[in-house]
Amino acid sequence: MSILVVGSVAYDSVKTPYGSRREALGGSATYFSVAASYFAPVSIVAVVGSDFRSEDQAMLKSHDIDTRGLARVRGKTFRWVGEYGEDINNARTLDTQLNVFADFSPALEPGHSSAPFLFLANIDPELQYQVLQQMQDRPKLVAGDTMNFWIQGKASALAKVVGSVDVLLVNEAEVRQLAGENNLAKAARRILHQGPRMVVVKRGEYGAVGFTPENVFAAPAYPLENVIDPTGAGDTFAGGFMGYLAASGDLTMEGFRRAMIVGSVMASFTVESFGLDRLRSLSTDAIQERYREFWRLTYFDGTGERELPTRHFALQESTSGRDG
Ligand code: AMP
Repeated sequence: MSILVVGSVAYDSVKTPYGSRREALGGSATYFSVAASYFAPVSIVAVVGSDFRSEDQAMLKSHDIDTRGLARVRGKTFRWVGEYGEDINNARTLDTQLNVFADFSPALEPGHSSAPFLFLANIDPELQYQVLQQMQDRPKLVAGDTMNFWIQGKASALAKVVGSVDVLLVNEAEVRQLAGENNLAKAARRILHQGPRMVVVKRGEYGAVGFTPENVFAAPAYPLENVIDPTGAGDTFAGGFMGYLAASGDLTMEGFRRAMIVGSVMASFTVESFGLDRLRSLSTDAIQERYREFWRLTYFDGTGERELPTRHFALQESTSGRDG
C-alpha cells in the first residue's frame, strides 16, 4: 500500500565531531521517503527552489519516489544549519531558513488524496493540517512528527495536528516540551490523552519507546561503533516504521512492535555516514541482515512466563518514604 508524505526537502549544512558537510540534500520528507521506499511506494508533497539540483531529483526517482507533488518554484530551497557536540543525540540548530516553504500551500495531485498511509513529517504544522484536510477518506493510518522549532512557534496549529494523528513520533526532549512534563512515561500519557493511539519516543542511541494506553514497548538502537552523523535518524526511523506497516498491512500491536524494530534498523544505516550517503544505496540483503542482527540483539526468551529461581524471605514491606 502506498504512503503520502508531506515534510521538508532541504539543503543541510551539518557539523559533527567527525567532519562537516555543506548544502547536502536533507529534509524530513527526504529521509522519510528514501527509507520508506525500500518497503512501499511513496509520494512526496513539498516544495523546492530553482536551486534544487538535478542529481537530487534523480536520486528520488531512482527510489521510485513519486515527485509529482514536489513543487519547484522561484527562490531558494529550505536551508538548515546544525551541529552536534560530544552529545551526539541532540542537534543544535544554528540556522533555519524556510525560504520557499514560507509561502507554500500544498494542493494534492489526483490520486494522492486517497493514499491509505499518510505521514506528516516535520514541517510547519499548518501545512501538515492542510494536507490532512485534503484527504478524501480518512487514511488507514496517519502518523506525524514535529520538533522544538514548531512547538515553540506554532503551538496551536500543532495541537490540531497532535489531536488528529493515530501515531505521534517525537524525540525525547520534544515529548517533554510538548507535554510540559519531565517524566517520559507521564509525558507520553499526557499526549495519549490528546488524541494519538500511540506515542513513539525516539531516544537516539538509546533506541525508541512506544506507548499505547495499554502497552509499553522498547526497541534498542543498534550498538554502532561509528556514529558519523545522526541527522535524519528520526525521519529515517519513521520511514522504516511506516514503510513496514504499509507493506505488511499489519496494524496489530505485534505489527507496530515490528515496525519499531524496522525503524531502528533503517536509522542505524543513516547515522553511519553523512547525510543520505549510506541510506540511499542499501541492498535488500543489508537490510535483511541487520534485521536479523536486531532479532538476535533483543531475543532473550521464547516465553515471558518463565518463573525466575528467586529465594524467599519473610519480609515486611517498608512503609518509609510513602506518601500519606
Ligand atoms: P532529524 O531526523 O530530526 O535528525 O531531522 C533532520 C532533518 O530535519 C534535516 O535534514 C533538516 O533539513 C530537517 N529540519 C530541520 N529543522 C526543520 C524544521 N524546522 N522544519 C522542517 N524540517 C526541518
